[in-house]
Amino acid sequence: MSNFRTIFDQYNWEAVSQSIYSKTSLDVERALKRDKRDIEDFKALISPAAAPYLEQMAQLSHQLTLKRFGKTMQLYIPMYLSNECQNICTYCGFSLDNKIPRRTLNGLEILKEVETLKSMGYEHVLLVTGEANKTVGVDYFEQVLELIRPHFAHISMEVQPLRQHEYEKLLPLGLNTVLVYQETYHKEDYKKHHPKGKKSNFYFRLDTPDRLGKAGVHKVGLGTLIGLEDWRTDSFFTALHLDYLERTYWKTKYTISFPRLRPFSGGLEPKVAMNDRELVQLICAYRIFNEEVELSISTRETEIFRNNVIKLGITSMSAGSKTNPGGYTVEPQSLEQFEISDERSPQAIVEMLKAQDYEPVWKDWEAAYQ
Ligand code: SF4
Repeated sequence: MSNFRTIFDQYNWEAVSQSIYSKTSLDVERALKRDKRDIEDFKALISPAAAPYLEQMAQLSHQLTLKRFGKTMQLYIPMYLSNECQNICTYCGFSLDNKIPRRTLNGLEILKEVETLKSMGYEHVLLVTGEANKTVGVDYFEQVLELIRPHFAHISMEVQPLRQHEYEKLLPLGLNTVLVYQETYHKEDYKKHHPKGKKSNFYFRLDTPDRLGKAGVHKVGLGTLIGLEDWRTDSFFTALHLDYLERTYWKTKYTISFPRLRPFSGGLEPKVAMNDRELVQLICAYRIFNEEVELSISTRETEIFRNNVIKLGITSMSAGSKTNPGGYTVEPQSLEQFEISDERSPQAIVEMLKAQDYEPVWKDWEAAYQ
């Protein structure tokens, strides 16, 4: 049985990086003209050589997104259930070595948070926890899904990577989507950013989308944390991963996020900065490379940036988010995982979307379609 690891191991980070940085304007023009693009075209589109073509890329990305998704924007909201974590990650406020009060929401507290999210209009919730097997393991996820399933049309999870049989247990309980970001595909530096805990196992994480595909999950989310390593090289590996997964688990849908490292209590400075123009280039490059993939942008980005990228390829966004457990109602003052940039309410986001002639979509999924 195939897995992405065998493909990944054939690549060398330095060689990939060199190949991206040596792309020319001819490569970019060829990529823009073609009907079907391959991974070499993606390299050209994310390369420095593509920077002068940003306007052209933005127009093409807009047209392709309109053709496939129309003028719609899916809305979702994260619900942080726990900040307990057994891992050390250099970039995260919940890291084990960060001395903060730890907290995991119980059933009653979760229902209070649910009530608040429902009053905002949400039908799609993203459940987030740290990685602590004893407190937030599969048993906890089973209980949470049973509790909240009646309240939401779409449930996503961003928690520790699980085994295939564990995902298979959660799917009938209402789990639709799993986000599992590799953080970085730079194998050696991955170890530096994840020195302790289960997350330090690079390949266990890399293999997770394969386990999800085999388990038959509806949608898988990929991405890297932009700022840890060279974003172009990391994005190449994300696109390579996406391409493999689409060909292997073709019934599954995919979504990509581009989180840029944000400040947090005791935080890490980005090693590699990415400016707004470069993020726009990356969003457009993904869309031109892949017309089907969902592209998602969170409240990490500023109000102005988010207003401006609506038309460039993004298909889903969060609004009104809190990144601390109980952050909506139960314990608004607990420590955040990272600082939010766009603090507008969901209603303000809806108005902004409508002003741009876009339709906000609260509910994109019905269990009956399964
Ligand atoms: S990124 Fe996730 S695994 Fe790492 S410290 Fe934060 S919550 Fe824990």
